Amino acid sequence: MSAPFRIGYGYDIHPFEEGRRLILGGVDIPFEKGLKGHSDADCLSHAIADAILGAAGLSDIGTYFPNTDSKWKDMDSQDILRKASREINAHGYLVGNIDAMIIAEEPKLSPYLAQMKEILSKSLSLPVTSIGIKATTNEGVGDIGRGLAIAAHATCLIYKHA
Ligand code: MG
Repeated sequence: MSAPFRIGYGYDIHPFEEGRRLILGGVDIPFEKGLKGHSDADCLSHAIADAILGAAGLSDIGTYFPNTDSKWKDMDSQDILRKASREINAHGYLVGNIDAMIIAEEPKLSPYLAQMKEILSKSLSLPVTSIGIKATTNEGVGDIGRGLAIAAHATCLIYKHA
């Protein structure tokens, strides 16, 4: 791994489920239902973790945190992000910046984006200005458009530290 800069990409989707909390980017968002998953189902944080790991050519988060292991049940996905960050550090890289997109028909996420950036910046030890998070709807198209799930895409740049 010798390139001074590398890019990574991640994607995740989780379906809605009644009786769950809705956690995105570490923020507990008030809504009538949450996302189904083995962990806290924070698809934004999962997409970012996969982008970070992928940038260093490492395995996906499913390898580090198998959803068949009860140890990771309902785990805080900020722990996944901290782990991804430590893994690339161990390979000589630091995160430069993150850019991510959440795709959700509802609820409206714009009021929570700043708080997500705050939480992610702490988990990744990055300035808030190095984290981009946008939200869009799927314009009613497909399963996300019908409000059945929330998805997230993320890219990340990592650089070799001295
Ligand atoms: Mg996931």
